[in-house]
Amino acid sequence: MIWRALAPALLVALGAVWGWLNGSAGWTLGGAVLGAVVWGWFDSQRAAWVMRWLNSPDGARMPVLSGVWGDVVDRVRKQVRKLEKKAGKSDARLEDFLSALQASPSGVVLLDAEWRIEWSNLTAASHLGFDPQRDQGQYVRNLVRAPAFIAYLDEADFRHEIQIDGTGATSVQPLRISLQIHPYGKKRKLMITRDVTALQLAEAMRRDFVANVSHEIRTPLTVLAGFVETMQTLPLEPGDQARYLDLMSQQAHRMQTLVSDLLTLSRLEGSPMPGAGEWMATPELLEHVLQEARGLSQATADPLHHIDLGENEPLHIAGAKTELLSAMSNLLSNAVRYTPPGGHITAGWRQRDDGSAEFYVQDTGPGIAPEHLPRLSERFYRVDRSRSRETGGTGLGLAIVKHVVQRHGGVLEVRSEVGQGSRFMIVVPASRVRR
Ligand code: ADP
Repeated sequence: MIWRALAPALLVALGAVWGWLNGSAGWTLGGAVLGAVVWGWFDSQRAAWVMRWLNSPDGARMPVLSGVWGDVVDRVRKQVRKLEKKAGKSDARLEDFLSALQASPSGVVLLDAEWRIEWSNLTAASHLGFDPQRDQGQYVRNLVRAPAFIAYLDEADFRHEIQIDGTGATSVQPLRISLQIHPYGKKRKLMITRDVTALQLAEAMRRDFVANVSHEIRTPLTVLAGFVETMQTLPLEPGDQARYLDLMSQQAHRMQTLVSDLLTLSRLEGSPMPGAGEWMATPELLEHVLQEARGLSQATADPLHHIDLGENEPLHIAGAKTELLSAMSNLLSNAVRYTPPGGHITAGWRQRDDGSAEFYVQDTGPGIAPEHLPRLSERFYRVDRSRSRETGGTGLGLAIVKHVVQRHGGVLEVRSEVGQGSRFMIVVPASRVRR
């Protein structure tokens, strides 16, 4: 500050002394004015340097100055540094925020007031089929062309969500997306998308299941009610009466089996996986189910089936005995029910090369066309509906088998050819097998 006051005074004084040394009072005054002009010129050069530095966009070399201009430069530099630090922090926070949105399981799209995409996470991009980088700034209406979405935008009522097909959805691989727009800030919008395919499939399955169960129960109930009515209204011969009662008992039995299979399924679904605590000898399991199958053949087939013991490796399997027995006997009872009388059925246990164990039932029945094979274990799926009904099938047998097998970490495999018979296999993983 002192320098700022002294420097011009010194220059003026120097000018005055120089003028005085040169002669008159006029020269003295002229010298002082010259000193002031020199100072003014010098100071304006320094100011111009500072201004050039402040105006240069890419930060020209910082002026090294003393005095007031030096202070100005120093203050400005400190201020700029502070602002840079603050901006850096804001950038980092924004980056964190966007990373969080990127990690969100839902799709997130930020739209500006003109409905242009400002930012989108990868989930939303895959749901709606756009490129998060390339499509930035594009109008969302141009990218998402689903009619339901366009109508949603036109209607501008965003209190509810809509559902559209996701990009690349096909009938084989459906992708259903739920989408809702939430306005925020100054006319900006947040668009949230969710993959609801699994939910929809589960809902469709539940509806189908309820419809199927109702249908399966209604049929025997209608028959039963019909017989009851007949018996109530018509005077029947004792022989007819006995026949009707027999048929009624069959229907009641059918309903009982259905309910029992349904309960088995729901028990399997609701209970925890069986541990590897109980070890069962496979020859013992085999003997049990073969005996059952022979009994079933005796009760239903004439001539009897040839039910043979195939491979019988002495293995031990870890799991739930009642579940495994029920799965094995389900496969054998299917073989008996679908193989014409006199046909051959072979069942056995063997160890595969990879250490897993295979229970197989091979029959000489009608075989199954390839298009049915992937759907056999769906609930109520039947290839031969009338044969299934005739033999008291519920359409749930293979669904139960698949459940049991999966609970033991295994798989249910089927090999079959029309006219050549079938081979159903339960494969138990090596971790549950001991020789
Ligand atoms: P169901 O109670 O009708 O037998 P399952 O779930 O046990 O139901 O079997 C589903 C369908 O698979 C059956 O309806 C039948 O058409 C077919 N199926 C099962 N086992 C055999 C087999 N050994 N031979 C031919 N078809 C079979």
